[in-house]
Amino acid sequence: MSDFDRTLRPESRIVHPPVAEVNGSRPMGVPLHQSHLFAFETSDALVEAFGGPGGAFFYNRYGNPTVRSLEEAVAGLEGGTGAIATSSGMGAINTVLLALLRSGDHVIAQRSLYGGTFAMLADLVERWGVEVTHVGGDDPAEVTAALRPNTRLLHLETISNPTTRVTDLPGLIAAAKAAGVVTVVDNTFATPLLCRPIEHGADIVIHSATKYLGGHSDVLAGLAVFAGPELHEKVWHHAIELGATADPFAAWLTLRGLQTLALRVRRHCDTALDLAGRLAAHPAVTAVHYPGLPAHPDHELALRLLPEGHGGVLAFDLAGGREAARAFTESVRLASLAPSLGGVHTLVLHPASTSHRQLSDAELAAAGIGAGTVRVAVGIEHPEDLWADLEQALAKA
Ligand code: PLP
Repeated sequence: MSDFDRTLRPESRIVHPPVAEVNGSRPMGVPLHQSHLFAFETSDALVEAFGGPGGAFFYNRYGNPTVRSLEEAVAGLEGGTGAIATSSGMGAINTVLLALLRSGDHVIAQRSLYGGTFAMLADLVERWGVEVTHVGGDDPAEVTAALRPNTRLLHLETISNPTTRVTDLPGLIAAAKAAGVVTVVDNTFATPLLCRPIEHGADIVIHSATKYLGGHSDVLAGLAVFAGPELHEKVWHHAIELGATADPFAAWLTLRGLQTLALRVRRHCDTALDLAGRLAAHPAVTAVHYPGLPAHPDHELALRLLPEGHGGVLAFDLAGGREAARAFTESVRLASLAPSLGGVHTLVLHPASTSHRQLSDAELAAAGIGAGTVRVAVGIEHPEDLWADLEQALAKA
């Protein structure tokens, strides 16, 4: 990154990803290098290219110019020294966990994790002899109490799904770092525009770029961003063995989406706050989960950790339980009944029967997910059109 780039705010930097000159002029769009193989003039240069994550390009599993542009852009936004782009968010999570853990290691992970991450950790326990202790997101003392001599990694998410609890990143990270434990934060829900976990001490930041970074429901991609070169290099060697590398076209689509991230995130946050307030006043709704509302249990923490906005996901509980949730999710017309989040379209989902169906009734209750809980991933449509849609669907719930 040049000295000039360093003076720019993230909103300006993401519109100007570094692009090399071609034949005397500079393309304004990031070029797509759809070649998986690169040739060399000398054997020494090829040998050198195998050395590490920043080397010359020779084979896409190791690196590609378009993929590198995405890695540099997101590393810059997160305040990291480098990144590895992967074929999905799960690709990034698996790459990091498998690179840093071995049998007999202990992991401390948040209880309210994305289902795929939860399942991956359970798999590591069952088949690889890794030990996992789950903790809440608000009490650093719980992390300290869970520490063991073999604890290697703390895995957190900035905002939990679907009840939007905000994690005390500074507190939990400090507790783990005091014991030399590597700290990993999945920042998918917050994006680097709302929260930069490296500023709070995180070693690695994960993104499902499938969500806000890509932003248009047309690409599956992920990223692991590193606070320093040591972990980057270590994970990169495993990344190329695992082969979860991002495809150049996926990287190109993500870079294209990334350029409007600031506008989209502003709109997602404003509309989510607006809808959350209106839902809270609706008679069919018994509770609204959105950190921007003063009644949310983490509102104070959210104001400190996410001062620019509280994200585009909210959830609410319907008095009529499962049947009301079914009627609501099947009655929306502008919003769509679909999983995922972070795209331009508004989506609704019943977590208990879909994204969180693997949880027992007791686990659902502990996570604050009821039979009548509905998640809304707020898009960028006009807020009045969205409210009209939610209101007519609420009337049928
Ligand atoms: N992390 C979080 C917080 C997610 O919500 C998801 C997917 O929903 C993932 C990771 C996995 O991302 P992907 O579907 O791109 O593999």
